[in-house]
Amino acid sequence: LNEKFQNIFAQLKRKGKLNEKDIQEVNREIKMALLEADVNFKVVKQFTKNIGERAIGQEVLSSLTPGQQFIKIVKDEMTTLLGGEIERMDFVQGRQNVYMMVGLQGAGKTTTAAKIANLLKKEKKFKPLLVACDVYRPAAIKQLEILGAELKIDVYSEHDVKDPIGIAKRGLQKSTEEHYDLVIFDTAGRLQIDEALMDELVKIKETINPTEILLTVDGMTGQESVNVANEFNRLLDISGVILTKMDGDTRGGAALSITYTIGKAIKYIGTGEKLTDIELFYPDRMASRILGMGDVLSFIDKAQSMMDDEKAKELEEKFRNQDFDLNDFLDQIKQIESMGSISSLLEMMPGANKKAMKNMDLSGANTKQTEAIILSMTKEERHKPGIINASRRKRIALGSGTKVADVNRLLKGFDQSKKMMKQFSNPNIAKKGRMKLP
Ligand code: GDP
Ligand code: MG
Repeated sequence: LNEKFQNIFAQLKRKGKLNEKDIQEVNREIKMALLEADVNFKVVKQFTKNIGERAIGQEVLSSLTPGQQFIKIVKDEMTTLLGGEIERMDFVQGRQNVYMMVGLQGAGKTTTAAKIANLLKKEKKFKPLLVACDVYRPAAIKQLEILGAELKIDVYSEHDVKDPIGIAKRGLQKSTEEHYDLVIFDTAGRLQIDEALMDELVKIKETINPTEILLTVDGMTGQESVNVANEFNRLLDISGVILTKMDGDTRGGAALSITYTIGKAIKYIGTGEKLTDIELFYPDRMASRILGMGDVLSFIDKAQSMMDDEKAKELEEKFRNQDFDLNDFLDQIKQIESMGSISSLLEMMPGANKKAMKNMDLSGANTKQTEAIILSMTKEERHKPGIINASRRKRIALGSGTKVADVNRLLKGFDQSKKMMKQFSNPNIAKKGRMKLP
């Protein structure tokens, strides 16, 4: 989807003045791109209608840079469509916060329950309890117990008891008596919505009286997820959505459709199988991501949580001023290593494409090599890689025990990333999205 948008936008940028017909034409292309990405038809219609009205109204035609202006409208509208502002979880310190996870089988309820418990334990110093109410698969209880043990978070479960409502009741009782301040109920799912399951969920809801009912939706599903979300919302009046598996290739389709259709906010996104792979949902960042502008801010946030504040501020400045050089790069390599896969970070960078990512792949053995190459450069070369000519490349390769091709690949990859960062130099976008995690 974001490739499609990038093509549309590239065409737009080349144009000088836009007329009404141009706008209709671009709008038609946007519509096609969204429909192809399996975004709900009604959503697409409303979206392109809003854009058309605003664009033809005045903003674009009278502007000096109509192409840019139009792109801005598309991004604004998409941000609005995704919920506009960021929505935080409802949690109150000093009271018992009760969360209930619901969703289809395999959506990621159990994993996400553990992720949230872990996140709030770390960031809010909460003492969480997980309650296993999925009694239909013995493996499901075990799964939660394993996750709890891994995270040192208590789990309430009953084996050989097929009474999810009773378990919920006793889990809540334990939580109250032992003063947990967050209790998360993991529930069963089905491959499709069925009445018996819904009945059970309604009863659990009545029993535990949750402060948040979080619908977990597999972000890789398209339109279908809208019907599911609708049904869960109708019967349970959910309080928010969590989109999982947003680390995959198909991003955005479900996000766009769900918020618009059920009018409930997406609160978090799951971005991988690891228990730290969870992020707040930022509508404007997601809009940028879908539109292919990348997401340098999420990148910085993720990097930030691994670094001390001072360093992070410096890095952020440098990103913004496009002042980031190979010295900084080297500095980050080690820290970045501890964050796991670098490509997941690079994917968030503006305009990231597969080719550039390959060039920048620093995982595993490559890291050592990259380090060696950079260390073989002079300080000045690291600051201005542009001055490194052919003979210096040879010398650097020799000095680092690599081939000239390796040096070239590193420099090219670095250069491409810098170009990507440049695309993101609009300070308004950068400032607007800048927020701390809860
Ligand atoms: P449940 O049936 O709704 O409880 O789903 P689970 O929590 O058991 O998750 C189903 C599968 O999806 C597991 O293999 C998880 O590791 C995986 N999963 C969950 N969230 C994410 C995510 O954000 N990204 C990826 N890649 N996998 C996820
Ligand atoms: Mg489960």
